[in-house]
Amino acid sequence: MTHPTPNHLQSLAPYAAQDTASAKRVHTEPAAKSRTEYGRDRDRIIHCSAFRRLEYKTQVFVNHEGDLFRTRLTHSIEVAQIARSIARNLRLNEDLVEAISLAHDLGHTPFGHAGQDALNLCMQPYGGFEHNLQSLRVVDVLEERYGNFDGLNLTFETREGILKHCSIKNAQLLGEIGQRFIDRKQPSLEAQLANLADEIAYNNHDVDDGLRSGLLTESQLMEVTLYGENRALVEQAFPGLMGRRAIAETVRRMINALILDLVTTSEKLIRAQQPRHIDEVRNAPVLIAFSDKVRADATELKQCLHTNLYRHYQVQRMTSKARRCVHELFALFMKEPDLLPPDYLVPDNEARQARKVADYIAGMTDRYAMREYRRLFYVDDI
Ligand code: MG
Repeated sequence: MTHPTPNHLQSLAPYAAQDTASAKRVHTEPAAKSRTEYGRDRDRIIHCSAFRRLEYKTQVFVNHEGDLFRTRLTHSIEVAQIARSIARNLRLNEDLVEAISLAHDLGHTPFGHAGQDALNLCMQPYGGFEHNLQSLRVVDVLEERYGNFDGLNLTFETREGILKHCSIKNAQLLGEIGQRFIDRKQPSLEAQLANLADEIAYNNHDVDDGLRSGLLTESQLMEVTLYGENRALVEQAFPGLMGRRAIAETVRRMINALILDLVTTSEKLIRAQQPRHIDEVRNAPVLIAFSDKVRADATELKQCLHTNLYRHYQVQRMTSKARRCVHELFALFMKEPDLLPPDYLVPDNEARQARKVADYIAGMTDRYAMREYRRLFYVDDI
């Protein structure tokens, strides 16, 4: 079989990640025969168990609160959709942005940011817990699918995109993949893009979910430029339209406006810098960005979501419960490690035991964590 070249690869920009030129794996493998190397990364991610768990992990709303709210799985799919759409416009590598997008949240704990904050607090004496690092740990170490290596053996560019933030202290422990944080260099444009596609996705779906839940009101959002302007366009196009359809029409216009601004601004930045190769991208300033006006609009929207949704008392109640659940599970496992499944037991080494407990808890879905909590703390539950 000859190596297929998807149409979009024929017109990749010179500064895009090139499948054949880069795409190095830690363990050398024969070239993929039926797909691109970054396509192979994407496929490995889709087939791994951490990816399936995303279905039952909280984005903002805990999984059992309603069937229509986003989960980490649907969030990741939306990020991939937005990232691919932008990548095609900028002639970047679509397979790579898709792989990064689908993997970017694999290391998230149950219960969203509340879970991550609680686990990070528990792990303070042992180096902390950070979900980006954990996503990398999932694909590098924790997945057990291959006979000759741990993890998924993904390409450097996919791993670099997954590790979007990292402290200098942690970067020093990571070798090649952490080096750019020490040298203050940029990752590929595909990684820069996936990061902003994440932001476009969550800002918009949190508006949609927030309104659906009734915790966020349209009058709060009308104060926000991005929502207000696009809601006015919907009123012009469909006078008198209300309810779900009006919200959906507004949200899709917001997503579109953000994507168009990102494409136009990034094109300008790229044109000014003229990178001829991915290595020049790494040494250049950030080249994938919103305009100043839209950056300010996006920040205003984020602020509104923080004040009215993420800090809503009903969300806080769930967040508080989630924190206690993670905290108490961690404390119990550290005190009585023989309650852990044998694979997670590390005798006589407190720091490594703590990391294993963190791996165990981070790998739990919301409902698994709640079930585990009941099994361990309630006498009448087995
Ligand atoms: Mg995300």
